[in-house]
Amino acid sequence: MKGYVDKDLCVACGMCAGACPEGFRMGADGLAEGYQELPEAALDDALQVAEDCPVGAISVR
Ligand code: SF4
Repeated sequence: MKGYVDKDLCVACGMCAGACPEGFRMGADGLAEGYQELPEAALDDALQVAEDCPVGAISVR
């Protein structure tokens, strides 16, 4: 499982990278990105940020 960010929607609030740093980071373009296969222990956090992203930009699959 990995996190994906629709960069056309992301408003760079930073929430996902703060709440689930093992799954998301802020990229060089200033927008969030999923950057690695999610460690098992980070999966719940990743699903939570997907739910909480203010613009619905995150999917986990
Ligand atoms: S929570 Fe959503 S809007 Fe905020 S940085 Fe992450 S992907 Fe972008």
